[in-house]
Amino acid sequence: MTTVGFIGLGIMGLPMAGNLVKAGYDVAGYNRSHGKVDRFVSNGGRGASSVAEAVRGADIVITMLPDSPDVEEVVLGEDGVLANAASGALLIEMSTVRPATARRLAEEATGTGVRVLDAPVSGGEQGAIDGTLSIMVGGEESDVAAAGSVLEILGGTVVHVGPHGAGQTVKAANQLIVAGTIELVAEAIVFLECHGVDTESAVRVLAGGLAGNRILDRKAAGMLARDFKPGFRVELHHKDLGIVQAAAREAGVVVPLGAAVAQLMASLQAQGHGGLDHSALLSLVEQLSGRTPR
Ligand code: NAD
Repeated sequence: MTTVGFIGLGIMGLPMAGNLVKAGYDVAGYNRSHGKVDRFVSNGGRGASSVAEAVRGADIVITMLPDSPDVEEVVLGEDGVLANAASGALLIEMSTVRPATARRLAEEATGTGVRVLDAPVSGGEQGAIDGTLSIMVGGEESDVAAAGSVLEILGGTVVHVGPHGAGQTVKAANQLIVAGTIELVAEAIVFLECHGVDTESAVRVLAGGLAGNRILDRKAAGMLARDFKPGFRVELHHKDLGIVQAAAREAGVVVPLGAAVAQLMASLQAQGHGGLDHSALLSLVEQLSGRTPR
C-alpha cells in the first residue's frame, strides 16, 4: 500500500487528503493547529503530531500550505520534510508559491534522494471536495509519471507543463485570469443592480453567451446574496497577485489589468477583509460607486 504524508489540512488540504483516504491510501495528516488533524482522523485518516511523524516512512509527501515562507519552513526546516523523508520519496508541493521557491526546493533536494514536483491547483474548495482540480505540474517527466495515480484522484485535469517552477508560473497566470474575471463579474452585477435589472435572470442569460465563465457559474449566486464566506480568502489572492506582478516584472511583461486588480485586492486586504472570499471584490465596487455595501 502507498503511504502518503499530508501536511496542511486547511480548506483545500482536508478534502484532498480525505479523497486519498477514500481511494484506499494510508494517509498520515499533519496540521499546525491540531483541531484540523482531529477532523481528518474523524474522516478516517491517520493523525500525525509533527511534520517528521507525517513524513517518516511515506512514499509520497504532499504539502498544501498558505505561502512560500510556510513551505520553506516545512520542507527545508531543521525537522522538516527533507530532513525526515526516506530516500526515494516523492514530494508533491501543491500550495501556490513563488516559482523561485519551487525551484529552490528542487535544488535543495538534490543529493537527498527525495524527488520534488511543483503541482499547484485550481478549482477551489468544491474542486478539492469533488476531486476535480486542475493540476499544473512542474518537474521531471519520470516523477510526474510516478505521481500520476495520486494526482488523478485529486484532479480532473492533470498536465505536465514544464520543468521545476513551471507549474507555479502557470498557476500565477491562472490567478491573474481569476482575479480579473471576478472583478469584471462584480462590476457587471453592481451595474445591473443599479439599473434595477433582475440580476438572477441577467446572470442566467449572460452565462449562456460569450460572457459565460466559471466565475459566473460558481460565484455569482454568492455575490448576489452577499455571501462572502471563503472559499478562497482575499489574503491568499493578494499573495498570489504579488507573485504575478513580480514574475511579470522579471519577464519584462506589462500587465495593466493585473496591476489594477492587484490594487483592488490590496485595498480589501488593507481594510481588514483578508478573511473574506475573493468575490468580496463586489463590495469594493459598491463602495467605489458611492453605495453602501449590503
Ligand atoms: P488554509 O489556510 O485553509 O490552509 C492551510 C493550512 O496549513 C492551515 O490549516 C494551516 O493551519 C496550515 N499550516 C500553516 N502553516 C503550517 C505549518 N508550518 N505546519 C503545518 N501546517 C501549517 O489555505 P487553503 O485555502 O487550503 O490554501 C492552501 C494553498 O492552496 C494556498 O497556497 C492557496 O493559495 C492554494 N489554493 C487555495 C484554493 C482555495 O480555493 N482555497 C484554491 C487553489 C489553491
